[in-house]
Amino acid sequence: MSVTGAGHSADLIVINGRVLTMDDGNPATEAVAVKDGAIIAIGSRASIEELKGPATKVIDAKGGSVIPGFIEAHMHLFSGGAELAHLQLTGIHGFEALQKAIRDYAQTRPDAKMLVGQGVDYTVLGSERVTRHHLDAILPDRPFCMAAPDHHTMWANTRALEMAGILHGRTLGPGNEIVMGDDGLAGGELREGEAFGPVLDLAGESRVRLGLATGGEPDPMPTAAERAADRDIMRRGLAWCARHGITSIQNMDGNLYQLELLAEIEAEEGLSCRVQVPFHYKNFMTLDMLDKASDMAVRYNSEWLSSGMVKVFYDGVLDSWTAVMVEPYADRPDWVGEPLFTPQQFNDLAVAVDKRGLQIAVHSIGDGAVRAVLDGYEAAQKANGKRDSRHRVEHIEVTTTADVPRFAELGVVASMQPPHPPGAMDFPLEPTVSRIGPARWPLSYAWRTLKDAGAHVVFASDWPVSPIDPILGIQAAVLRKPWAKSDPDQSFSLHEALAGYTVEGAYAEFTEHRKGMLKSGYMADLVVLSDDIEATAPEALHKVHPVTTICGGKITYQA
Ligand SMILES: [Zn+2]
Repeated sequence: MSVTGAGHSADLIVINGRVLTMDDGNPATEAVAVKDGAIIAIGSRASIEELKGPATKVIDAKGGSVIPGFIEAHMHLFSGGAELAHLQLTGIHGFEALQKAIRDYAQTRPDAKMLVGQGVDYTVLGSERVTRHHLDAILPDRPFCMAAPDHHTMWANTRALEMAGILHGRTLGPGNEIVMGDDGLAGGELREGEAFGPVLDLAGESRVRLGLATGGEPDPMPTAAERAADRDIMRRGLAWCARHGITSIQNMDGNLYQLELLAEIEAEEGLSCRVQVPFHYKNFMTLDMLDKASDMAVRYNSEWLSSGMVKVFYDGVLDSWTAVMVEPYADRPDWVGEPLFTPQQFNDLAVAVDKRGLQIAVHSIGDGAVRAVLDGYEAAQKANGKRDSRHRVEHIEVTTTADVPRFAELGVVASMQPPHPPGAMDFPLEPTVSRIGPARWPLSYAWRTLKDAGAHVVFASDWPVSPIDPILGIQAAVLRKPWAKSDPDQSFSLHEALAGYTVEGAYAEFTEHRKGMLKSGYMADLVVLSDDIEATAPEALHKVHPVTTICGGKITYQA
């Protein structure tokens, strides 16, 4: 290669890196050249430096790894962006520590209408479950609520329950519950969105939750000032992604409003991450409402902003016994959970979405939910014929021997979260491992078993459920330890874990021909890391961090 004029020179080159391409045909090299948003060459430092012109920006990777930008396959951008401003309770244990954290935070927010905490363990008070009385003792006068890391349970003090009008309980849809105390009043624990929605709405962030809570649009339409504030929440979320090396987001809640906000940001200054936003189908909707999903898919289909997916929740979570199991919970022998759809309703939905050529992604945590959702995908194939649909099952915390091979057979993507297994990162072993019970441990969070059975396994954080940092997820996947010696090893190699955040993420969104690898002609989405990730001991991976993130050839983050 030689430079014959400025028109041939690169916009940007990255040199002196340990370039890990994730392309099996050309696994490792030294340097990358970028022009007009795409990778134009990849190879030795000498060959890439030939593409350097007077205006070319040069990034010296200083021996750090250069890898494809991370593709976050399951996250919640809008609520995550909002929560960056909430009280962070991750890692807080015991009443005293909780009290200090809440009181300190309350002092810094004298004007907040509702104080919101985030990431509190179910076992924050040991074996004692949190009630409104604990929270009243901490903060009697001001409304306060706090969410479990999984965002499926919240706890509120009496003031918050009163203001939300739910102190005396309320009838809710299946799977949702205001847990009542012995005194006939709400005890403070609120299970699932319909139960805690009224409390959270008092925080003035109701628009943030719409894509998750109802899939609907803001009503009344936000004012210009509210829209601007919401764009800023999105910007905060996008910047948080870029600083963690993320260049593509598969968002897992959505509505038209989120797409509009992102399109407004794109028009104003460009997006710093590519975003896919689904239509969220809830169990109170009717199939004709899928017209909106089809409209969203047509209206937003660029390489920066797209839709084309329908997100569904089939069940809840293990910790509040709302996940749907095939056999009863180990610690609740008369209970298998309650699905949010009947199997027949879900089959009809899967057939209808598939017929429109859209992708489906379904939150399915218990093995009963996983099975019902696979049944729905099978019904869709029977009804509409087999196509390259890449429907997805989200989470798959427990599955069964019978269902493992069905992922490959049906061409279904297994979307899993390395930070989620109890004991892997921030989630404690209890109560989850006792809910599951030892008989089901071998096929819990079983990404190795699924991958070995031919499934495409894609990784993500489910932020803000878990910290967004993909490198922490990679470390958790590599260091994964069984709960019992007799359980199979579910850990991944570094390369497999990286693939879960890059090539497999691209596959999940039908873009494997354009991203997920560093290859000539691919999108210039890449990240320069602080260290050589392959030379880093697994226990030290958490110290590796992005130094430069590049998305579409633009630098979106620089340490
Ligand atoms: Zn999620």
